[in-house]
Amino acid sequence: MAVPKRKVSKEQKRKRRTHFKLHAPSMVVCPNCGELTLSHTVCKKCGYYKGKLVVEPKLEEKSEE
Ligand SMILES: [Zn+2]
Repeated sequence: MAVPKRKVSKEQKRKRRTHFKLHAPSMVVCPNCGELTLSHTVCKKCGYYKGKLVVEPKLEEKSEE
């Protein structure tokens, strides 16, 4: 088993981990239906992207099996 020659100090470890962050997904308002959607993504509610119908929206609200 490999043994590290020098342990990373608490300070070094903590400084490195300052960049480990969660970020909220960037949401935009759909210009077609006004629903919040992920940017650069087809709207899940109406299926529109860049003003065109790309995907047929699902008719059922919830499909649970
Ligand atoms: Zn939409």
